[in-house]
Amino acid sequence: MDADIAANALKVGDLTITPIDDGWFTIPEPPQIKAIDPDLEPHRAYIPGDGLFYTQLGGFLVRTGGRVVLLDAGLGPPCGHCGDYCAADADPAILGAFDDMWRRFGRDEDFVAMRRRGLKDTVIHHGRLEASLRAAGVAPEEVTDVVLSHLHCDHMGWVTRDDKPFFQHADVWVHEADAAHFLGDNPPDETGTKVMFGVEPAGVRMAGALGQIRTFDRDITIAPGIDMRHAPGHTPGSAIAIVSSQGQRAMLLGDVIHCPLEMTNVEFSLMADLDKDLAHRTKLNLIREIEDGAVHVASPHFPGMKFGRLMQAQGKRYFTYG
Ligand SMILES: [Zn+2]
Repeated sequence: MDADIAANALKVGDLTITPIDDGWFTIPEPPQIKAIDPDLEPHRAYIPGDGLFYTQLGGFLVRTGGRVVLLDAGLGPPCGHCGDYCAADADPAILGAFDDMWRRFGRDEDFVAMRRRGLKDTVIHHGRLEASLRAAGVAPEEVTDVVLSHLHCDHMGWVTRDDKPFFQHADVWVHEADAAHFLGDNPPDETGTKVMFGVEPAGVRMAGALGQIRTFDRDITIAPGIDMRHAPGHTPGSAIAIVSSQGQRAMLLGDVIHCPLEMTNVEFSLMADLDKDLAHRTKLNLIREIEDGAVHVASPHFPGMKFGRLMQAQGKRYFTYG
């Protein structure tokens, strides 16, 4: 998981989308995967068969029309645990909240018990985003826009460091429905997230950047060639970024799709959608839109944050990188 991720940049017309690495993490391999698709060969980059499921962390950089835009902002700066964290080391007093998080996501008790047993396999390495950004030739103060696909902790992490704005001159864009859900008067209990990732809730970590937030409540153009489309279900305000130039398009899917297997096997989902049914409908609509292979897609969680295309042949969908 430590390859040169920036090398997986994609040209879209005269724009370039550069993956900005923040780290990676593992969770126990979801047992239902094998039942759904015994042929995991195309997915071995992130389900290598060692009992773990590997997932990347980070964001994507696009320069356009004099703007410097970062789409998603990783899990965040190293904190008390220096960027390496194992959920088995979480405070035992808050583990019940971890179980409750999965119940809120509609998961059954077998699943809850499996994830509790798998805490030792929930291991996070993060904190590289600043170095990755600088390696791509951008200083944090040069970023003009940070656009968050949603407000889960692994997408908004670098918005602040030590409670102060990390991107000092940037607007921070987020859908109004996620701002209301995560930052409103009645925020969700994110203790489960703290167990899993070892970080404070989004509301706590966003507090130092509230003055930078700009919300949108309809599909909008953020900058030339960058549009946001509401795609709710994973969270109320989840949104997809569409990057377009000279007749070409790419989509950054946030957590609407976590991994290619969720597109080739639509009954599989990676366990963490707040509104399961709505998330499923949103996902199906998206899949129908992109299954002709015309649009490159990626998410911060794809292996190497690599772009690929969904295709169809003989009535079966498959995903191909590049
Ligand atoms: Zn995520």
